[in-house]
Amino acid sequence: MQFTDLGLAPTITRALEEAGYTSPTPVQGESIPAALAGNDLLVSAQTGSGKTAAFLLPSLQKLTVKSEGRGNGPRILVLTPTRELAQQVEKNALEYGKNLRWLRTACLVGGASFGFQTRALSRPVDLMVATPGRLMDHMRQGRVDFSRLEMLVLDEADRMLDMGFIEDIETIVAATPANRQTVLFSATLDGTVGKLAEKLTRQPQRIEIARVESGGQIEEHLLYADDQRHKDRLLEHILKEAGFDQAVIFTATKIGSEELADKLADQGYSAACLHGDMPQNWRNRTLNDLRRGRIRVLVATDVAARGIDVPTITHVINYDLPKQAEDYVHRIGRTGRAGRDGTAITLAETREFHRVRRIEQYLKRQINEGVIEGMEPTRRPPKGGGQRRHTGGKPDGQRRHGSGSGQPYAGRKPSGGGSGYAKRAPRSANSSSRAPRAD
Ligand code: AMP
Repeated sequence: MQFTDLGLAPTITRALEEAGYTSPTPVQGESIPAALAGNDLLVSAQTGSGKTAAFLLPSLQKLTVKSEGRGNGPRILVLTPTRELAQQVEKNALEYGKNLRWLRTACLVGGASFGFQTRALSRPVDLMVATPGRLMDHMRQGRVDFSRLEMLVLDEADRMLDMGFIEDIETIVAATPANRQTVLFSATLDGTVGKLAEKLTRQPQRIEIARVESGGQIEEHLLYADDQRHKDRLLEHILKEAGFDQAVIFTATKIGSEELADKLADQGYSAACLHGDMPQNWRNRTLNDLRRGRIRVLVATDVAARGIDVPTITHVINYDLPKQAEDYVHRIGRTGRAGRDGTAITLAETREFHRVRRIEQYLKRQINEGVIEGMEPTRRPPKGGGQRRHTGGKPDGQRRHGSGSGQPYAGRKPSGGGSGYAKRAPRSANSSSRAPRAD
């Protein structure tokens, strides 16, 4: 199937060709014709599946026809959970819509100046991308007119609900025309998302896309540590030995991300942190620096890192476990992008094994546990707690894998010939799973 088979205007397909897209991804192949037919849609698709173009292309197609509505308000509204994702969506809209010379977009996100956004709203807007909180701020000031809105897109709806935006979303939706087309994208369509979707859509078409491969494979490793200090030593070892280009390290807290970034900067890495309390222009600068390779290690919290699409990120390290199992998928999806391979390493204290198990239950597979020679944990998680027992292997149930390039520890000795940290005899048992791209 080609983009030209989907009923899109040549001005749009030309831009796609120039962007190097040859054929639609599965979510695009199914969603674009359905959206062009005017249906409401409920689409379960992951980041990395090409979902942004799946809703932007039919949106842009609508904009190729002149509006009959009056006023300056947006014809398309895309709601996203985070600022970074909103900016990414606007950037993609400008890329795919670059031949629609009249196209005007507005991006309303928190942390950025009101003045600029207010000026954008005083002119006609075709496509608006917004986070719910900031959009509500502008709505309260009477600056947004939805009377000519044709299409509402909720991107990563599950995440918006997780972030507590339900009331804002309901208020925003209530301000839009009832005859709008509504398109909802979410990793899952179950539970509260399903209930919200029922309320917001009319006879929606359901499109469920199986998790897809974007070409890149993510190799996953799980390393248990006795305690925080042990984790720090593992991290130090990984960064020294992994041979990474760029890495994103996830911490559980904002303060934790700042402290770790400072520590790594002291150790000589070009490191920076990214979290939701940073002013928006600072966050933008950090992301630009990451894209340009000026930052090699980004220490981030979950929300801030969502939507980061930088193909040169070779490694994701979960320094702290994600609070929610699904965040694991989003985190590791920061690597293995644009068809490249990536490595995801999760550090967990042994006492946290039940949290690892929850992630594995969500994934419906185990993350293979490995050890670094000479840096093994002194205690192991209980059997079945995320540790894979290999039959026919060594007596301790671990197996030896051939060392693959990009693996941080396979076949390598800890730097300095062993730290003396683990008292038991060094094992060279490394296990790794070459998991399919999860998003
Ligand atoms: P998304 O799921 O929207 O975050 O997209 C993931 C990545 O795939 C982005 O880098 C897009 O630019 C890219 N992409 C989207 N659609 C296509 C396509 N049809 N062919 C190739 N790459 C694509």
